[in-house]
Amino acid sequence: MVGQERPLRLLQRALAGGRLAHAYLLRGPEGVGKRTAARALAAAALCREAVFGGCGLCPACRKLRQSVHPDFVHLAPQGTAIKIDQIRGLKDALRFAPLAGDRRVVLLERVQAMRPEAANSLLKVLEEPPPGNLLLLTADENEPILSTISSRCQLLAFGPLPRELAALVLRRELPELHEAEALALAALAEGSPGRALALHATGMLAFRRSLIERLLDSSDNQAVLTREVLALAAEAAELKEHLPLLFDLLRLFFRDLMVRRLAGPGFEAGSDLGPLLERARERWSFAALSATLSAIDTASRALAQNVTRTLVCETLLFTIASQKKEDPLPRPSPEYGRGEKETRGQKSEIREGRRGQVAAQ
Ligand SMILES: [Zn+2]
Repeated sequence: MVGQERPLRLLQRALAGGRLAHAYLLRGPEGVGKRTAARALAAAALCREAVFGGCGLCPACRKLRQSVHPDFVHLAPQGTAIKIDQIRGLKDALRFAPLAGDRRVVLLERVQAMRPEAANSLLKVLEEPPPGNLLLLTADENEPILSTISSRCQLLAFGPLPRELAALVLRRELPELHEAEALALAALAEGSPGRALALHATGMLAFRRSLIERLLDSSDNQAVLTREVLALAAEAAELKEHLPLLFDLLRLFFRDLMVRRLAGPGFEAGSDLGPLLERARERWSFAALSATLSAIDTASRALAQNVTRTLVCETLLFTIASQKKEDPLPRPSPEYGRGEKETRGQKSEIREGRRGQVAAQ
């Protein structure tokens, strides 16, 4: 396990002192290691050596690994939540003493989604668990949890991981992932390796990369550019429910780019795009980036208001693609001020003027 030192230290101390509570509630953001910790504790409670995570060698550890330990009961949501029938089944099982040793461990996952009747049925077990039973509950933070449940358990608070640590966990799972890519995913997933893995599975990082490459390679000829952007927008609109995620990733990219411009060359922002960032830095001025970022916000809002996906994508991508290209000549004055002074009308005049020049060449 990586991170989560505080709850783990607490558990290990209780384990070493033989003072385990009868019920623990592991609470925190999704995907930060609550289930892994609960399983490590379950292994410790059943293992002959009583070490956190289990010794891996004793008969109890081997059975647990093969998912055939008779004294490990695992209740995961059927559908969205643990159902009342599952709790009834659990109560039946608890009427008997543990089968293999002197302890039984019950792991109940995502109890925050339990319906009130199931939760109430569980309360009686939590109040007076039969001796020899250890109850481990996990709950994500996205929904409130009944205080009647939380007050009957010892609370173990889990938090998001620092970005670097979340990226480390991610790369253990996906060794082929580039370090900078892992960092970008970890940032987007707000320090939850589990969520970062889910994000990676969408393939959205690869899509973002190809979209930015195509925007960088887009033509200076207005007619060709229009065709290219329309095709790109159609592809993006096909992402459907993943579109907000793409917008988040684009925001992250252009924000990184802006930080790079402010910090000057040599500054390494945590991005997955390396050389592409360099090309992009030459392509989009500070004013263009600022316009792009606000266009992304507008697109996100429009999407939330059910504006047609294709229209949202077309508007956004046209805005990004038609930003005035960076003047290749070095400028004596910082462009920071230039962007602020320009009005919308002036900007488009400049843009049109430049496009005319390019077309004439
Ligand atoms: Zn063992």
